[in-house]
Amino acid sequence: MVKVYHDKDIDDKVLKGKTVAVIGYGSQGRAQALNMKDSGVNVVVGLRPGGKSWKQAEADGVKVTTVLEAAQQGDIVLMLVPDMAQPTVWKEEVALAMRKGKTLQFAHGFNILYGAITPPKDVDVIMVAPKSPGAELRRQYEAGFGVPALVSVHQDASGKALQTALALAKALGSGKAGVLETSFKDETEEDLFGEQAVLCGGADQLIRRGFKVLVEAGYPPELAYFEVCNELKLIVDLIYKAGIGGMYRAVSDTAKWGGLTVGPVIVDDRVEENMRKVLKDVQSGKFARDWMAEYRDGSKHFKALMDEVDALEIERVGRQIRKMSGLEK
Ligand code: NAD
Ligand code: MG
Repeated sequence: MVKVYHDKDIDDKVLKGKTVAVIGYGSQGRAQALNMKDSGVNVVVGLRPGGKSWKQAEADGVKVTTVLEAAQQGDIVLMLVPDMAQPTVWKEEVALAMRKGKTLQFAHGFNILYGAITPPKDVDVIMVAPKSPGAELRRQYEAGFGVPALVSVHQDASGKALQTALALAKALGSGKAGVLETSFKDETEEDLFGEQAVLCGGADQLIRRGFKVLVEAGYPPELAYFEVCNELKLIVDLIYKAGIGGMYRAVSDTAKWGGLTVGPVIVDDRVEENMRKVLKDVQSGKFARDWMAEYRDGSKHFKALMDEVDALEIERVGRQIRKMSGLEK
């Protein structure tokens, strides 16, 4: 069983008098900086001068300076620029400011696990990974709650690394929902597998192919969009709140019978075999090496795949329907 901590188990005195430098102000950077600030932590945000995040951070009332200066001011330096940009930001700026006794913090273990960043031995290296996008992290905090988070220690130079990670998770609001202790390896490999096989990749392909089959068979695309995409949210909400059984109990008996008997015909043993291969590539580091090489080469294939998405018929139809129903402007 993993160890789970809540607010009452966490002593946040370790953060007294400390400054947290948040590097980057995107999805996680903004939410984490604001949650910590509202929890009484001294926060400074480090950004590229002239970037559009700078104005946003100022408008939000947080202290902003350059990446190097923020990293110099921070006792804890939190890396929240995109994973692929982190090695350069680390090498050119953050590393220059890492002194003995400081803490380097991540929200995902990728660059440590795959060796793209190697911090000096005399700093603590920790991870606090909220299990939600930034907007939800902020929304839950503002509602007086929090999203669950994973914490992990890669390097414990001070002997207090876990305490620091837990206190930071508490400042994000995650101590209200539960903070789970894990390793950099487990967090990274599970996260990559999840987003590839089930969440982003798996769900995308299920929707795309369901839409394609219906439209090719001559059904109206608008109806197909409702069936295989729009309604997926309602089903996932049911699973989120009450589990798979709870979802089945909330739909008709015909939907139960159809889902239970036809589901395994669609996602069959071959799909499970594919999932095992995908997990192996994550564990061996092949996925990480390929993605880092793609990024270094200018992300041409990556951009082409995104253009392909934008050109899909389901995207055109979906936009119309979301506009019609007021979901999108
Ligand atoms: P993001 O893409 O939303 O934001 C990155 C920000 O970094 C940008 O807004 C910009 O301010 C800055 N930036 C971008 N490129 C830069 C560069 N080359 N140099 C300097 N600054 C640059 O990133 P994110 O999704 O918030 O991810 C940050 C970290 O959080 C990653 O390690 C990611 O794995 C982790 N994480 C993300 C989520 C999520 O749902 N988005 C969830 C958990 C953990
Ligand atoms: Mg992820």
